Amino acid sequence: MVKYGAVEMGGTKTLCAVGSSPDDMGEVVTVPTTDPAETLGRVVEYLRAESPDAIGIAAFGPLDLRRGRIGVTPKESWSDTDLVGPIRDGLDVPIGLDTDVNGAALGEGRWGAAQGLCNFVYVTVGTGIGGGAVVDGEPVQGLGHPEMGHISVRRHPEDDYPGICRLHGDCLEGLASGPAIEHRSGVPGERLSGTDLTTAVALQAFYLAQMARNLVYILAPERVIIGGGVSRLPALLDLVNDRLVDELAGYPGLPEHASGFLVPPGLADISGLAGGLVLAELAADRATSSG
Ligand code: ZN
Repeated sequence: MVKYGAVEMGGTKTLCAVGSSPDDMGEVVTVPTTDPAETLGRVVEYLRAESPDAIGIAAFGPLDLRRGRIGVTPKESWSDTDLVGPIRDGLDVPIGLDTDVNGAALGEGRWGAAQGLCNFVYVTVGTGIGGGAVVDGEPVQGLGHPEMGHISVRRHPEDDYPGICRLHGDCLEGLASGPAIEHRSGVPGERLSGTDLTTAVALQAFYLAQMARNLVYILAPERVIIGGGVSRLPALLDLVNDRLVDELAGYPGLPEHASGFLVPPGLADISGLAGGLVLAELAADRATSSG
């Protein structure tokens, strides 16, 4: 049976597993994301022991997908790191690379909350905000890749928090990421309660509904999946969906936008790893068809 290696690289930890689907994926191995040499060394060591037929990597960014490298990042020592090279040097198999959110979108499309759909978006709201779009069955890449967390949103009239994005201040990520919630209120989102929680959830819904509106108007997705730690705030997704209906103001007036349009991931915390399996399969298919 075919065996794919899946790698999900996050800012603090890197997850590895092998299998052909989430059902037969063996134990998930966690490697701390420290410096590139140590982290990639341990990933290669794990993969060599498992000898997969192909490998898919879903990684934090920004990524230079044409060169298989991480771009300029504030994460110490990772700027311009070659992600694919060290793995290719260690294992002579096809390797696919995409962003963590494109990977998660592919995983959700194959086995999760977007099964059977060709056009959908996966958004994570956590330490940062990022989104991966699948259009016509393919993850969107272009000149770089989408950076949906850094779109601009209009400010809530009662929100005077300046925003935490190091680049833009009050972009979506600057106003609605986990660190923004904590910085604004002085308490991490998961520890908020009472009126502080109600206020925070209402603000989140105000900002995330604008993102959803932009996605509806720009990409016409059939569904938007919202994952990440912040998305689990009580009743948040339903409130975002209600606010989205207000934002759309009846245009284009499709009933599908009114409920069940914004959904949690179907694969819980393994969307990205599942996406690694899909990326590996796509890389294997490309290698076969090119000869
Ligand atoms: Zn920003």
